[in-house]
Amino acid sequence: MKILVINAGSSSLKYQLVDMDNESVMASGICERIGIDGLFTYKPQLEGKTVVKDLAVSMPTHSEAIQTVLAALVDKDNGVIASMDEIDACGHRVLHGGMEFTESCIVNDDVIAAIKKCIPLGPLHNPANLTGIQACQAVMPKTPQVAVFDTAFHMTMPAEAYIYAIPYEYYEKDQVRRYGFHGTSHRYISARAIDLLGNPEHSKVICCHLGNGASLSAVVDGKCVDTSMGLGPLAGFPMGTRSGDIDATIMEYLMGIYGYDIKEMMNILNKKSGVLGVSGVSSDFRDIENAAKEGNERAQLALKKYFYEVSKYIGAYAAAMGGVDAIVFTAGLGENSPATREAICANLGFMGVEICSERNNIRGGEHLISSDNSKVKAFVIATNEELMIARDTKELVTK
Ligand code: ADP
Repeated sequence: MKILVINAGSSSLKYQLVDMDNESVMASGICERIGIDGLFTYKPQLEGKTVVKDLAVSMPTHSEAIQTVLAALVDKDNGVIASMDEIDACGHRVLHGGMEFTESCIVNDDVIAAIKKCIPLGPLHNPANLTGIQACQAVMPKTPQVAVFDTAFHMTMPAEAYIYAIPYEYYEKDQVRRYGFHGTSHRYISARAIDLLGNPEHSKVICCHLGNGASLSAVVDGKCVDTSMGLGPLAGFPMGTRSGDIDATIMEYLMGIYGYDIKEMMNILNKKSGVLGVSGVSSDFRDIENAAKEGNERAQLALKKYFYEVSKYIGAYAAAMGGVDAIVFTAGLGENSPATREAICANLGFMGVEICSERNNIRGGEHLISSDNSKVKAFVIATNEELMIARDTKELVTK
């Protein structure tokens, strides 16, 4: 069985064709600048096939992007499958499932309507995700489409974790609550961590998805009980460009001084804050680490602030769960920065977390990085959201 995984953004579309017989990637790539000029990247994973990088292809809409992907996959010389009929199903990443979706599902008219209903909750992503689904439906009308939601894994949170302490009517009437994101990643790495712990009957795992966007989750016996992002992805600890949790009074105060409207204020918190805002250097941790090494004090402060807030969240989640068996690091920074993992864990010695510098000196893969004496196990587990989407898709279409 072959599954095409699609992650459609407003002007981009990432794709991966997965052979589910051995869960191997046959080809992957990205369509960028959709609606602008169009750039196409295609990476076939079969011997003798050629990588295509940043090829200029006209893609006025997501529909042309999907057609470009399919044409490359079935190309006589450089393709990886003989015909489109070999694609058994498509799995789509959808950002916001609101309170409607607690798990992945096969797309039908009701599902489309429900995803549309969630647009006010995910105004930047859900329309693009829908466009991706509808473009696939148009080009492959007989192929089942599956939606996999970023929010679904977190829907097991108890009320005290998801409710905000504002008038209850906003929850009842307007669905204002904590939802959380990166759910597919948290689901994948928490399940892998439980496996690596030897599948104990009871487990308490803290997942740290540290990428450009970043979130933590607390997972008891495989079920999410809390997560750091909220109604939207701005909440939690500081990220590349997002502020994370702030005192809402700051907004009123700055809007008063500078006359910002709410759009400008939100743009500052989403795009100009986080480690970029504090350091003034970059949103990329590699640049900040280099600047900090050269003595840039604001870069040093940005890193300190980041490590401080992440370790505070880990402490909070250990308290929320009444203990912790494993801490897992994943995504761009979590998988690739030993210094980040070491600095975060250095604040957690009181909980019995002890990192082994030698074991920690790795990138990606799946590794134990805590010492044998550590009371809490620490792992690096490379996330694989696409594989999770492909597995859900296979399960639903073969049911
Ligand atoms: P997203 O999917 O949210 O865009 P990623 O998970 O790809 O982000 O993470 C991207 C971030 O990972 C980069 O901004 C960078 O800060 C960080 N990163 C990647 N590689 C390294 C590295 N070797 N050292 C430090 N940070 C890294």
